[in-house]
Amino acid sequence: MSTTSPSSLVRSVIAAVPLLLQLVVVDAQGASSLPKIRILATGGTIAGAQAKGQDAGYKAGSFNVDDLINAVPTLKHLAVITGEQVVDIGSQDMNNEVWLQLAKRVNAALAQSDVDGVIITHGTDTMEETSYFLNLVTKSDKPVVMVGSMRPATAIGADGPANLYNGVAVATHPGAKGRGVLVLLNDEIHYAREITKTNSTQLDTFKSPNRGKAGMTNAGRVYWYDPLAAKHTSRTVFSVQGMDQLPRVEIFYAHANMGRDFIDHAVKLGVKGIVIAGVGDGNMTRVAVDGLQEAVKKGVAVVRSSRTGSGITDRNVELNDDKLGFIASIELNAQMARVLLMLGLTKTRDTDALQKLFYEY
Ligand code: GLU
Repeated sequence: MSTTSPSSLVRSVIAAVPLLLQLVVVDAQGASSLPKIRILATGGTIAGAQAKGQDAGYKAGSFNVDDLINAVPTLKHLAVITGEQVVDIGSQDMNNEVWLQLAKRVNAALAQSDVDGVIITHGTDTMEETSYFLNLVTKSDKPVVMVGSMRPATAIGADGPANLYNGVAVATHPGAKGRGVLVLLNDEIHYAREITKTNSTQLDTFKSPNRGKAGMTNAGRVYWYDPLAAKHTSRTVFSVQGMDQLPRVEIFYAHANMGRDFIDHAVKLGVKGIVIAGVGDGNMTRVAVDGLQEAVKKGVAVVRSSRTGSGITDRNVELNDDKLGFIASIELNAQMARVLLMLGLTKTRDTDALQKLFYEY
C-alpha cells in the first residue's frame, strides 16, 4: 500500500503550481487572459554584441526583437508578447524623423484593443529625449515603458534581460496606467520627464535629480512612489498625427569665453529655436546674450536652461527675460527643453505661450 508523507505532498503541490498557473491564464476559449504587451525595438546596447568576450567595444543593434524576447523565456508568465522592429540603431543616431515614426507606431499599437501596453527597447544615450517626446505625444493612458541596458547582450552580467523582464512587470502592473511614459533600468522606474543619463558606463546611470524616481522593482515586483506632477500623454495639447517634420531647434553649450558666431550662423541657417545650456542658472557671456537678443528680434525662440544637470532655471534672475524676450526652461535640461520647444513651436510662436508650456509640461 502506498502512503503519501506530508513532505511529498508538499512537493507534489509545489510541482503542480506551474500547471495550475497555466490553467488560470487560459480561459474557456483557449485564449490567454494574461495582459498583451507589444515590444517595439529600436536597437541600442540592449541588442548589442561584442566581437569577442570581454571586449569593451561592441556594435549596438546586433540582435532583433525576437532575439530579445527569446532571451527571457519567463516573460511568457507575465504577458502575451508580440514584437516589432521599428528601427535598428544606436540611439546616438536617433532623430526627429524616427521619433515621429516611433510615436505613430506607439499610438497605433495602443489604439488596438488587443494591446494592453507597450515596451520600447532603446539605447540609453538619448533615451531621456525619446521618452520625453513620447510622454508629450502619446494619446493613451495605457502603460508605455522604455527599457535599455548599459551592457551589451553578449557581456558577462548583461543587464538587458533583467531590465526587459522588469519592464514587462511594470507595464503589466495596474499602477502603471496613467503615469505617462516610464523608463526602467537597474531596478529603478523613472518618469520620462525627470530622467537624465548621468554616467557614461555605470548601471545606475539614470537619475531623476529634481523630483525623484517613479518607483522600484525587485525581481518583477513593483513598488510605486508619488505620481508625476506635470501634464503628460492624453492630457497634452500635442499630437504627431499628420506631422512629418519638426521645427529646427539647436542647442548651444555655454562656457567661459563663449562667443556669438555660432548663434549668428544658426540664425542665418533659419533655425526656429535656440536652447542654451547655460552656466549656473542659465547664464552666458554678455556677447552671447547680445547675439540671442538679435535672434529673438528676427523671430527665433530662445530658451535658457542650465548645464548643471539639476535645479530650476527661473525667469528674471540675473538676466531680464521680460526685456530680452527669452524663455526660461524651469525644470528642463537643455536636451529636454529642445524637445518641448520643438513641439511648442508646432502650436505657437508667441513667447508668453511658449513660456507657459515650460511651467505646464
Ligand atoms: N550608444 C548606445 C546607444 O545609446 C549606447 C548606450 C546604450 O544603449 O546603453 O544606443
